Amino acid sequence: MDSKLVRRKFLEFFESKQHQIVDSAPLVNKDDPTLMFTNAGMNQFKDYFLGNKKAQYNRVADTQKCLRVSGKHNDLEEVGLDTYHHTMFEMLGNWSFGDYFKKEAIAWAWELLTEVYGLPKDRLYVTVFGGDEGDKLDIDQEAYDFWKEIIAEDRILYGSKKDNFWEMGDTGPCGPCSEIHIDLREPEEIERVSGKDLVNQDHPAVVEIWNLVFMEFNRQASGELKNLPAKHVDTGMGFERLCMAIQNKSSNYDTDVFTPLISLLSEKAGIKYGADSQNDIAIRVISDHVRAIAFAITDGQLPSNTGAGYVIRRILRRAVRYGFTFLDFKKPFIYELVPILVDQFDEVFPELKAQKDFVMKVIEQEESSFLRTLENGLKKIDSVKSDMTSKGEKVIDGKLAFELYDTFGFPLDLTSLIARENGLSVDSEGFNAEMQKQKARSKADAAKETGDWNIVGDQESVEFVGYEHLVADARLVKYRTI
Ligand code: ATP
Ligand code: MG
Ligand code: MG
Ligand code: MG
Repeated sequence: MDSKLVRRKFLEFFESKQHQIVDSAPLVNKDDPTLMFTNAGMNQFKDYFLGNKKAQYNRVADTQKCLRVSGKHNDLEEVGLDTYHHTMFEMLGNWSFGDYFKKEAIAWAWELLTEVYGLPKDRLYVTVFGGDEGDKLDIDQEAYDFWKEIIAEDRILYGSKKDNFWEMGDTGPCGPCSEIHIDLREPEEIERVSGKDLVNQDHPAVVEIWNLVFMEFNRQASGELKNLPAKHVDTGMGFERLCMAIQNKSSNYDTDVFTPLISLLSEKAGIKYGADSQNDIAIRVISDHVRAIAFAITDGQLPSNTGAGYVIRRILRRAVRYGFTFLDFKKPFIYELVPILVDQFDEVFPELKAQKDFVMKVIEQEESSFLRTLENGLKKIDSVKSDMTSKGEKVIDGKLAFELYDTFGFPLDLTSLIARENGLSVDSEGFNAEMQKQKARSKADAAKETGDWNIVGDQESVEFVGYEHLVADARLVKYRTI
C-alpha cells in the first residue's frame, strides 16, 4: 500500500464513522503566542477542549502538518540518527468533542490497524495509564477492560504518567492516554522477550505509532481533578511511522514517503544509500529537513534572524552543512528536492504546489548566502580544533562561537553539533554573553537612527504601508511609525 493510499484510507475510514474531514491547520502558528509551530493535531481544537468555543462538528478527523523543533516537543537532535523522529511529520487524528469515548476510540483504532491496514496482531502492543500514587491518579481500568476484549492481556502494558497521562498545562483538561506500539524487533529477540516481560516500552525497535488521549478531567488550580462535563477523545498517529509498519520496513526512511528524496540525493552525491553510516545520516537529515523548510515557507514563515524565522534558518543551515561536509554539495541543492514534495503532497497539501516557485527561490537564496561563508567558517573551526588539540582543550570559547555566528552565519546549535562530532563542546554561556553585548550595541545604534522605516514593537502606534514579501509575516511587514 503506497503512502498516498494509507492516508486516504485513514480519512475514508473515519468518514465512514461519521467524522467530518477537515483541513490541516498551517504549520506556522500566527494566532497563538504560546506556540510557534503546530506540534500536534489537537492544537487547532484547543478552544473546544477549554470550553472557549463550541465545535461545529462533534466528530472530526484530519492529517495535520506538525513541526517538533522547539519548546516542549523538540526532536531535532534525534532526526537522522534514529529512524522515526522527524522535524516535520503528519499527524493523523480523529476527535470526539463530547461525543464517543474510550470504547469506540479503542475499537476503531484496532479495526483500522488490523482489518483495513492488515497489521499483524502479534506485532502490536498497547499501553494504558498505570496510575500515579504521588498524584493520586488511578489506573485507567476502563481502557484496560476495553483492550482486554480485543487483545491478549500480556500485550497490554502499563505506562507512566510521563507517557500515558496528558495535560494541557498546570490546570485545565487532562486525562489518561493509551498508546499503540509496533514491535519491529528481530524474531530471535521477540522469542527471547515478549509479552509482559517487555517492560521496557522504550525499546528502540518497539515504536509508538498511535496515541489515544481520553480527556475526562479538569485540573483545578488547587491540583484537584474534577470530572469534565463533556468528555473528549484526541488521537494522534504518526503517518510516516504508520507507513513504515504497513510497508513492513524498519525505518521511516525506507518507505515511499522518503525514498524518492533519498534516491535523488544519493544520485546527486554519487553514492549508494546504505553504504556508509555517516553519509546515510546526512541523507536522512536533508530529506527530513527539506520538508520542514518547504512547508514552513509555504505556510508563511520565511527564514530570518529572529523567532520562528530563525528556527527555520537554523534547520536549513544544518541541512546545508550536512550536505557540504559529507556529500560534497558545494552548490545549492536542497531547493531541487522541492518538486518531489510537490508531487507527493499534491492531493493533501496543494498549497505547496501553488507556491512551488516561490519556495524554491527562497530556499536557493538561503542556501547560496550560507554557502558563501560556510567554507571559511569550517576552516576557522578546523584551525581552532588543531589549536585546542595541541593545548589539550575541550571547550570552544564563547567568543569564538559568537564570531562564527556573527561573521560566518553559524547558528549556535550548528557549532555545537560540529563540536560534538569532534569530541568537543561549546561554552554556550559565553556565547550568550557576547550576544547580549551585541544587542546592547545595536540598541544604542538604533536609538541614533532617524529613518522612516522601523520594525515596530508592540508599544508604538503604526500605520500599515505594505508587505515587503509575498508571504505575510508580521516580522516582515513594513510599517511606518506615526
Ligand atoms: P515519541 O515518544 O516517539 O517521541 P510522542 O509520545 O512524543 O512520540 P505524541 O505526542 O503522542 O508523540 O504524538 C502522537 C504520535 O505522533 C506518536 O504516537 C507518533 O506516532 C507521532 N510522532 C510524534 N513525534 C514524532 C516525530 N518527531 N516524528 C514523527 N512522528 C512523530
Ligand atoms: Mg516525543
Ligand atoms: Mg511517547
Ligand atoms: Mg505519545
